Amino acid sequence: MSYKNFPMVPRVVFGRGSFNQLNDIIAPKRLSSSAPFIFLVDDVFKGNIWLTRRIPLSYQDKVLFISANEEPKTSQVDELVEQLILTHKELPSGIIGIGGGTILDLAKAVSIMLTNKGSASDYQGWDLVKNPAVYHVGIPTISGTGAEVSRTTVLTGPHKKLGINSDYTPFNQVVLDPELTKDVPKNQWFYTGMDCYIHCIESLNGTYLNAFSQSYGEKAYDLCNEVFVKSKLSIEQSQDKLMMASWHGGMSIAYSQVGVAHAMSYGLSYLLGTKHGIGNCIVFNHLETFYPEGVALFKKMIQKHNIKLPQGICSQLDDHHYDTMIDVALNLEPLWENALGKDWKKIITREKLKDLYQKM
Ligand code: NAD
Ligand code: ZN
Repeated sequence: MSYKNFPMVPRVVFGRGSFNQLNDIIAPKRLSSSAPFIFLVDDVFKGNIWLTRRIPLSYQDKVLFISANEEPKTSQVDELVEQLILTHKELPSGIIGIGGGTILDLAKAVSIMLTNKGSASDYQGWDLVKNPAVYHVGIPTISGTGAEVSRTTVLTGPHKKLGINSDYTPFNQVVLDPELTKDVPKNQWFYTGMDCYIHCIESLNGTYLNAFSQSYGEKAYDLCNEVFVKSKLSIEQSQDKLMMASWHGGMSIAYSQVGVAHAMSYGLSYLLGTKHGIGNCIVFNHLETFYPEGVALFKKMIQKHNIKLPQGICSQLDDHHYDTMIDVALNLEPLWENALGKDWKKIITREKLKDLYQKM
């Protein structure tokens, strides 16, 4: 038995308004006046001077506004990297991602691909990255994915949706400023928040569970309960706690795995482009056989917050489509092994998966 020796984010600042410290944090990391900091910023903040005027720019630093309407693609990473290499004489001093999981994952992937040859798709998998990434900073503006702590960056490539899982993937610095989440629309708040809740359920009910994962998973679960079920919190407390739930949920899966909802949600995402948060919710809603208590509480939360999940998203699909989704889902072997144990292949069949997808 060999235990994972996994890297953690070495520096983190937490607090409302901590975003104002960004200049103090990154200035010592500047390599030279011609090695810029590149800020990858969710384009939802374009024209939002409350945030943008606090981005500390000097020399040739640049802000690139990026849409989070679609999840990150390997081709998008390759294009960004090429653009940065062509327009600057030197490698950037740092890549700073400001946004949700989509932008955070892009920032991680770009920082890796600036120092590694080829296409981002060459590195989808486990421990394929050869060289350390450029210094990279993650600043979440919505809470739930755990992308701010994780060792992966999830990308859709030409052949698969799979993360670049490596010791060089985690951020060198994270800034947790819950105030940045204040304008997240309600539905999105719920979907991305449920990503965290589902991380907890899948980790706490998985066969990979251990005291390390459990300690983080239980904390994240309790925080989700406070935020989504009990609702006795002020808006500020709720933002603060959900940001820490996301962190703990991410830490929990770092040392275990996700499960059935994530595997099936990857299938939806690959075929239909369904985004991670909402896709997880659509799938999880039908997983009472696997996670009875977790799904029951989830249904209560849906009701309490008056969320209308999309129905019938698979109604127009043919067998070929189902096969594609099932292939993507079944390919994620560690997720199934975590969820169902070593004999998972005997428990979950293509037919069962098709039945489930048909209900969605
Ligand atoms: P997201 O980044 O896709 O953003 C969702 C929506 O919220 C977008 O429209 C965005 O513009 C908007 N938004 C974000 N912050 C906002 C703010 N402060 N105010 C108003 N609108 C705001 O959402 P997400 O759920 O955080 O991320 C999903 C992505 O994360 C997926 O690509 C998924 O694969 C990835 N993910 C990665 C990991 C990991 O460990 N690397 C884990 C889980 C999910
Ligand atoms: Zn997730």
